[in-house]
Amino acid sequence: MLKVAKFGGSSLAGPEQFRQVKKIIEADPARMCVVVSAAGKRYKKDSKVTDLLYLTHAHISYGVSHEDIFSLIEQRYYEIRDVLGLKYDLESEFKRLRSELTSDIPVDYLVSRGEYLTARLMSEYLGYAFIDAAECIVFSYDGQIDYEKTYAVIAEKAARTPRFVMPGFYGAMPNGVIRVMTRGGSDITGAIVANALDADLYENWTDVSGILMADPKVVSNPNAIEYITYQELREMSYMGASVLHEESILPVKEKNIPLNIRNTLRPEDKGTMILENIPEGVASNRMITGIAGRKSYSVITIYQKHISNDTRIIRKTLEMLENYRVDVEHITLGVDSFNVVIPTSQVRDRIYDIISDIKSHVHPESIKMDDSIALIACVGRGMASVPGSSARLFGALGENNINIRMIAQGSEEISIIVGVDNRDFERTIRTLYEGFMSEETENK
Ligand code: ASP
Repeated sequence: MLKVAKFGGSSLAGPEQFRQVKKIIEADPARMCVVVSAAGKRYKKDSKVTDLLYLTHAHISYGVSHEDIFSLIEQRYYEIRDVLGLKYDLESEFKRLRSELTSDIPVDYLVSRGEYLTARLMSEYLGYAFIDAAECIVFSYDGQIDYEKTYAVIAEKAARTPRFVMPGFYGAMPNGVIRVMTRGGSDITGAIVANALDADLYENWTDVSGILMADPKVVSNPNAIEYITYQELREMSYMGASVLHEESILPVKEKNIPLNIRNTLRPEDKGTMILENIPEGVASNRMITGIAGRKSYSVITIYQKHISNDTRIIRKTLEMLENYRVDVEHITLGVDSFNVVIPTSQVRDRIYDIISDIKSHVHPESIKMDDSIALIACVGRGMASVPGSSARLFGALGENNINIRMIAQGSEEISIIVGVDNRDFERTIRTLYEGFMSEETENK
């Protein structure tokens, strides 16, 4: 039995949290591979080391003194080391790093030191080997992770030192230059290690007891999800649920490795289990597993008679958006019109250019643009092939006088996305949560 345990920044914020991690690791000998983020916030108003490192870099590039911020970072690590009675030579590490703090220091390298030092201290504390991510998470020169090479290197290293700690969030290009992932990327590192070693379980330890059915800022005290499929989770993360990095799902899904979100402060809680298929009888038979959403989308509507027969117009419009590197979230097609939903933040400063490009290259009869749309996804494997699920959903919104501006359902029928006015966002989520979470699917 082999488990990969990834700990997020809040689980590594200070000496107390390190102690808790050690207890968790020692409670189960299968927890052989540990992936760590950089030390995070110890209390609400505290700062994450990663943010402080980004700030240090910004100070250096603007020529403003970075001394105060950098010494805050040093203190965080010295405190962990000294309180836990560790020996790691942080003095030399910081001396070298300080000598590198010039305008030439690459931001990715500097920022990666957060995870690097956290992993160094954790490896000594647990008595596990240290494996540097720079030696095994391989990036190609196009900035993408070379998964096959990465898996091979990790497997080879782990064969020599089966119990190890690895820093998350970064890797290196073949020339050794450090590259970081997008924020929260340690989740991806953990998933990669789990794939490379054919782990039995990937545990992702964080500060909540699992994924909640809805955003607690919108719904008070939402239930945690006990079981969710990878696919449902992908839909939820894509639409804004933010417990796991979206890209961390594919490496474990590929090998069908279960992923368990756990709470470091409450290790007795089962958390959320993410699987390819949920075994019969273990989970509740609710129609909806979770609700997620985002505000501030724009809809471009192109009018043209019989547009559904004219794929050229559709292709050309998408090509224009591609030229501007705008993400297309949804496309709906009617007889005489075609809607594209895009994030407002990506077009705000250049919408006039985009619209005039579409006009002059596509020549539609007319074109219209609407702002302030929120998209909300109701995600649930319980909806697939169950007649009446959408009727219930739309019925609940209708009864609450919420106007639906757009509807999309994926072909797998595990999510229904509704577009509503931004101002109806919270109300829609609450209505759906209240209307569905307590109901059980009748057809089951
Ligand atoms: N420390 C990095 C961040 O704050 C990466 C991570 O935690 O996964 O985004």
